[in-house]
Amino acid sequence: MAKEKIFVTRSSMPPYEEYIEAIKPLWETHWLTNMGKYHQELEKELAEYLMVPEVSLVVNGHMALELAIQSFEFTEGSEVITTPFTFISTTHAIARNKLKPVFCDVKEADGTIDENKIEALITPKTVAILPVHVYGNSCNVDEIKRIADKHGLRVIYDAAHAFGEQYKENGIGMCGDASTFSFHATKVFNTIEGGAVVCKDHVLYERMYNLKNFGIRGEEVVDYVGANAKMNEFCAIMGICNLKRISDAIASRKQIHEKYDEAIRTIPGIISLAANNVHRNYAYYPIRVTREYVCDRSELYDRFHEAGIFVRKYFYPLTKDCDCYKDEYREMKTPIAKKMSEEVLTLPIYEGMDEESVGRVIEVLQRR
Ligand SMILES: *Cc1c(COP(=O)(O)O)cnc(C)c1O
Repeated sequence: MAKEKIFVTRSSMPPYEEYIEAIKPLWETHWLTNMGKYHQELEKELAEYLMVPEVSLVVNGHMALELAIQSFEFTEGSEVITTPFTFISTTHAIARNKLKPVFCDVKEADGTIDENKIEALITPKTVAILPVHVYGNSCNVDEIKRIADKHGLRVIYDAAHAFGEQYKENGIGMCGDASTFSFHATKVFNTIEGGAVVCKDHVLYERMYNLKNFGIRGEEVVDYVGANAKMNEFCAIMGICNLKRISDAIASRKQIHEKYDEAIRTIPGIISLAANNVHRNYAYYPIRVTREYVCDRSELYDRFHEAGIFVRKYFYPLTKDCDCYKDEYREMKTPIAKKMSEEVLTLPIYEGMDEESVGRVIEVLQRR
């Protein structure tokens, strides 16, 4: 008999009755979107949870990035130093703002931007650094800040993987000029689709408020060429329900994470990439399949798929090598990122993943 399929993730959901009960008031008010009651409530609750002054909710993590970048009004064609070892959204958000991504290599230990290679890439056209806390591994934010301050650059973090993480007693969203989060169904915390820009001051909050609402400031005043990126009330309520259970969801992921950690310690050639944080959210379990392992990455990938376990190659290919960018960025060499993208696999991890499933994943890894 074919075994049940195991996917790399599964969305966390509140109990059905709880969500249904929570959306009932919408049938009285008929207020479904446009910064409604629940949108406002979730912004407040998230600001507290993420330990930041303000949160601006938007439709998804990608628009959070696009609008955060737009809010700084950089000159068209300016350069933004970033990494290719990320989800395609990061690079697209730069390109769609008509800015030029300049790709910096990453560090082998955790996949985050190599802060020692940033300065060599700075030119008179550089306006910002856009690093990614990839897999929830925090970047070297102190050194990045030092470099940015020295050269007068903005720093925008793609914190899509770092929900609820902390850095030196602060919310990780406090690093840089702005940070963005994704609340997509596949992330640790979800609002079905959703995202947020974390605002350290009210100026950015107001700018985001306008940008996500067509740039409209008053009934007859339109200040920006804005987008429509407002989160609707059904999504906000999903967020309110999921946020109530977030510590259980993370605790459940932690257990699975620890089982993988324990197993991997005894498997030569498999290296965990979920490494560098004290306060983790256990969003992903990325591994590197190195030469010391019994087979290469693509064979291990096939072994998993044959066993009905749908591991993913996050992140392969590098964003800069994707067809949509043709050969524009192939000249920018990032050898460590390239090697990592050829070795990486992310293992299934999600709230409520049962022991049998975890065991099946480990069994494939342990095969000779
Ligand atoms: C998920 C993700 C995004 C985009 O978020 P969406 O909510 O899916 O639009 C951006 N960057 C990274 C690194 C992501 O993982």
